Formats: sequence, structure tokens, C-alpha cells
Amino acid sequence: LPEAAKPPLTLRLCEPRGFCAGVDRAIQIVVLALKKHGAPVYVRHEIVHNRFVVEGLRQQGAVFIEELHEIPDEHRDRPVVFSAHGVPKSVPEDAEARNLFFLDATCPLVSKVHKQAMRHERLGRHVLLIGHKGHPEVIGTMGQLPPGAVSLIETEEDVAALDAGTGENLGFVTQTTLSVDDTAGIVAALQARFPLIQAPSSDSICYATTNRQDAVKETAPGTDLFLTVGAPNSSNSKRLVEVASRAGARQSLLVQRAAEIPWDDLGELRTVGLSAGASAPEVVVDEIVQAFRDRYDVTLDLAVIRVETENFPVLRALRDVPLEKA
Ligand code: SF4
Repeated sequence: LPEAAKPPLTLRLCEPRGFCAGVDRAIQIVVLALKKHGAPVYVRHEIVHNRFVVEGLRQQGAVFIEELHEIPDEHRDRPVVFSAHGVPKSVPEDAEARNLFFLDATCPLVSKVHKQAMRHERLGRHVLLIGHKGHPEVIGTMGQLPPGAVSLIETEEDVAALDAGTGENLGFVTQTTLSVDDTAGIVAALQARFPLIQAPSSDSICYATTNRQDAVKETAPGTDLFLTVGAPNSSNSKRLVEVASRAGARQSLLVQRAAEIPWDDLGELRTVGLSAGASAPEVVVDEIVQAFRDRYDVTLDLAVIRVETENFPVLRALRDVPLEKA
């Protein structure tokens, strides 16, 4: 549209948004492994839940697999990276049995939850994991303990169905990327039903999930549309879509690229909110801002609620590779 014909629009950009320290570190691990060891570097599962990131790494020589047996015999000397979501204990054990060289990119905050779950078990508690069935992080956390030692809780109804006395032998942990509000409801239901249940020593929901949800909660009220950049299998991105809806956005959508925005179905837009899940690269946010600028006379409103300074160092085995940002 010519500038004069563009309708005015306020674009509220959430801060913090996008990459968290765990995602940044996992991507760096693959990039540094490629630099140090050359291609191919195998990566078990999408390193982070983002097609854009996966495609970029594939072009540099990363090969994505779901299970270790997919690595051909002649490539057993190649590095294999485990994703940021964490893996069951059986995976590094399997890698050792196959004599593979592995680099574990599990986010330190996921590893912290693994330790919280193992501590409960060491103290003789049955572990309740609040999370979403089938998510790789849930599979990884459950796989830290022997079969039967962990029960998955997805809803408050699951709490009602539990039979565990007063809960003196119960401990809970949560997935790192849940809805802060929904989880508080489930934890309250657990504590009401099992007064002696033990909480983890600190929150399992990570700082990045909490900050992104807080920023959306502040920004979404009164918006005609709230867009979250993220993949349909990204837990923390999906939670941002829900948070925006509940906070009062008239419409709340998840998009992976600007091309997915259904321009013709959006109705009149005056104020739009924009955030990005922890695995969504900033380049897509830029692309979306530009797509709005092409159609509207955009005023950017930066909604900064917190400044993040978290930075997780990469694995020791890769610290000798000169660090340039990917
Ligand atoms: Fe780690 Fe949280 Fe990022 Fe997941 S979302 S990688 S737990 S910092």
C-alpha cells in the first residue's frame, strides 16, 4: 500500500520474547560440534521445536534422527547431540553401549527438574510429574526413574482420581514450560487433597516460561489480535496463545511465519500484540513486523516487563572452539 493509504496500527512487542538461554545453548552446541568435528553431526530429535532452526542447522550439516539406531554403522564415530528437552536415562546408556560419542544439550533447567525428581525418589517418595503426555521433556523426566516410580498428572481431574492417602510419600515436579496459572491450580488441588505432599525445592517452571507469560499477560488486554511466533509442537509457545486469549485478546493465534497470518479473516485491527516462544528465532519476529508495516502505518510499542541476563555456558568439551554467534 502507498504510505498515505495505510491504516494506523499499534504493534505491542513483548519483551522478553523468543530464544531463552537453554535454546541458545542447544543451538550453539550443534554449531560448535559442526565446527569442531565437521559434518555430519547427528541430532536426536529436533534440537528445539522450530522448523526454521532445524532447517538452518540441516543446511550446515546436522542430520536429525529420532532414535540412535538410525545412525549408520559407518558414522558411529560422528557426534550425536541430545536435544534441549532432555532424554530418558536409557538414551545415554544406549549411546554408551553403541560406543557413540554424544553431547548432551539438555537445558540445565530441565536437568534441575530431573534432579528434583530423583531426590524425591531417593527420599522414598512416589513422584507426580505435572506435564503434557507425549512431550519429549515429559518422556525424558519420567525416564530418569524406574518404571512405575512416576505418575503423570495433566489436569485437576487427574488429581481427583489419585489414591495416595495423605500424601506423606508423595513429591511433585512439573514440566518447565507449563502455564503458570493452570499449574498453580493443579498444585493447589494436590496440596488440598494430599496435605503432606512435598514440593520441589524450587519452581520447576523455568524463568523463560514465566517471563514470557507475564509479558503476554500485560500486553494482551485490549488487543484486536495477539500473535505468538512458534511451532505447533512447542509447549511454551502454545501456552502463550492461551495466556493471551485469557488476558483479553480478541483473537489469539500461533504462527510459524508471516505467510501464515490469515489477513483476510482478522477484521479491523487497531492494536496487535506480538510475542515469540522460547524456540522461535527473532528473524521471524522481524519478518512479521515487516509484514504489518507493508499493510499498516505501524507504531511500535515496546512492552518491556523484565530484562533477562541468563546465559548458560556450553559443554566443556566444546569450550575450546572459538565462540561466534550462530
Ligand atoms: Fe530451558 Fe526454559 Fe528454555 Fe526450556 S524454555 S530450554 S527449560 S530455559
